[in-house]
Amino acid sequence: MSIRIYNTLSKSMEEFTPIEAGKVRMYVCGPTVYNFIHIGNARPMIVFDTVRRYFEHKGYEVNYVSNFTDVDDKIIKAANEEGVEASVISERFIEECKKDMAGMNVRPATTHPKATEEIPEMLDMISTLIDKGHAYAAEDGTVYYRTRSFKEYGKLSHKNLDDLQGGNRELKVDGAEQKEDSLDFVLWKPKKPGEPYWDSPWCKGRPGWHIECSCMSKKYLGEEIDIHAGGEDLIFPHHENEIAQSEAANGKTFARYWMHNAFLNIDNRKMSKSLGNFFTVRDISEKYDLQVLRFFMLSAHYRSPLNFSDELMEAAKSGYERIINCVSDLSFLIGKKENSALSDEEKELLTKVSEFEKSFDDAMDDDFNTADAIAAIFELVKFANNEIKDEGRSREFLEALKGKIVELSDVCGLIVEKKEELLDSDIEALIEERQQARKNKDFARADEIRNELLEKGIVLEDTREGVKWKRA
Ligand code: AMP
Ligand code: ZN
Repeated sequence: MSIRIYNTLSKSMEEFTPIEAGKVRMYVCGPTVYNFIHIGNARPMIVFDTVRRYFEHKGYEVNYVSNFTDVDDKIIKAANEEGVEASVISERFIEECKKDMAGMNVRPATTHPKATEEIPEMLDMISTLIDKGHAYAAEDGTVYYRTRSFKEYGKLSHKNLDDLQGGNRELKVDGAEQKEDSLDFVLWKPKKPGEPYWDSPWCKGRPGWHIECSCMSKKYLGEEIDIHAGGEDLIFPHHENEIAQSEAANGKTFARYWMHNAFLNIDNRKMSKSLGNFFTVRDISEKYDLQVLRFFMLSAHYRSPLNFSDELMEAAKSGYERIINCVSDLSFLIGKKENSALSDEEKELLTKVSEFEKSFDDAMDDDFNTADAIAAIFELVKFANNEIKDEGRSREFLEALKGKIVELSDVCGLIVEKKEELLDSDIEALIEERQQARKNKDFARADEIRNELLEKGIVLEDTREGVKWKRA
């Protein structure tokens, strides 16, 4: 079956057809780096990393681009408070963000562009928009997008321009009096004292927020892409404005599928510092393995609001541990078994394993329903836990079970095989200790060491030439 995606643009489920066969061009709006990322920011990272992994699992080659917004009011404010350049703040938090991503097993994007490194591309696109009549420079050098010039404005957020105009009328925006129309938005703005700035044909200044994604997407993925994604708060105005910029400048459909994750709330309230219910990913890492946070995020469908609470994190922890324990039990048994081929009964049983995999794929094909996909992994774990009790099962059979659990978990980005890699020298030392114990007729200790090694996947073999070992 093919992958179906809920497209915000059409408000319906659509079958995924790539622009180029076997390839996916995907852009995910990344964080503004003025602080540690919070657990709300972690949701799109985890969700869309899982989408990427599933496409790869299905054999697609994914070009995945995700930006860092490294010039913005909040970054400038933090820099001024600390008395440093804005780039000091943004570089610091890009590095911290990458550490959190690694902890959550979110793979680095194919490219992570930064706004400040793409200014020439932005100036180019703004010039094109002016030339085509979609933008204009005001007297002070601010460049505005002429929103009404783009006839399809509102198609993503399903908003009507006149309703927007009504809602906007009361807004008191800085410099609003120089706009031709209250709907027009900023592409370039003049510098203020203490702000980073760049030269441009209109004034020394810096870009508006929306233009960076239009330019980076074009530069790294091309004028037309398959998937554009982010949190649902970005639908309007950010993504609506990106479409207006890109489609007016390039004359092509910008993105075919628009995916948006719902919000993460805490204790059923919007996350906010002032309410005291605000956690960074770093805060959570002090209490939990970040894999538990990943498991928690994937336990709900990405389009459903998700509530963060201690109870749900504890439930996620025990769910995640259930998979780890099963894999660890399987590893232990595999290490103890001599090689043996599959019996006919086992071959029959493995068809059952394919059914669990099919349920997993069906769930993921259905707009990446990770909640049901994890339920399919649990079914497989339950099946494996039952099979473990049968002492007659062959090594090959147990390996097949373990392999499938690890593989499907990996599609979700969940690391379920704890690899406490023992160094060769540690192994040799333990073997030496075991030999000594045997010489002293301390067979209990000798057995203990053998089992300890087995648990870590090291199999010992006593031969005439001495003890040999291998990794299971
Ligand atoms: P920002 O740094 O605010 O631009 O956000 C980066 C990404 O995190 C965007 O895709 C946002 O939509 C997303 N995001 C921010 N807060 C939340 C939240 N509470 N729940 C889910 N996604 C969020
Ligand atoms: Zn964006």
